[in-house]
Amino acid sequence: MAKTETNRGACLCGAVSYQVLGPLRPVVACHCNQCRRASGHHVAATSANRGDLRITGEDAITWFTSSPGIRRGFCRFCGSNLFWDNQARPSVSIMSGTLDRPTNLTLIGHIHTASKGDYYEIADGLPSHPHDDHSLTS
Ligand SMILES: [Zn+2]
Ligand SMILES: [Zn+2]
Repeated sequence: MAKTETNRGACLCGAVSYQVLGPLRPVVACHCNQCRRASGHHVAATSANRGDLRITGEDAITWFTSSPGIRRGFCRFCGSNLFWDNQARPSVSIMSGTLDRPTNLTLIGHIHTASKGDYYEIADGLPSHPHDDHSLTS
């Protein structure tokens, strides 16, 4: 049976776009050092099964290896952060701000808050974890 699209998204300039053909995980905000530097603030990401993600314009993506086995994909033209890919996992994280609206998703928590920027507070009352929280991200 053909899978139906649940969401689609794109980078700022449109050179990279993608379709998601399956369920997306709720959104988790990551405040770690790497996400801060890569995004300029913090990241908010959902994730999809690798096989449910269809990328158009993949040759416009630059993959930066940020840790062994982990790569971050951004548009080489406009710089949009699009993907976080732990290649050992069956899922790929998608930066939720790159999704078209309506996303039908909800932010459910924060991770790596011990590393967050010191110029803002997290005051939304959602679960926050100083480091990783696999109950939120797996
Ligand atoms: Zn772009
Ligand atoms: Zn992070």
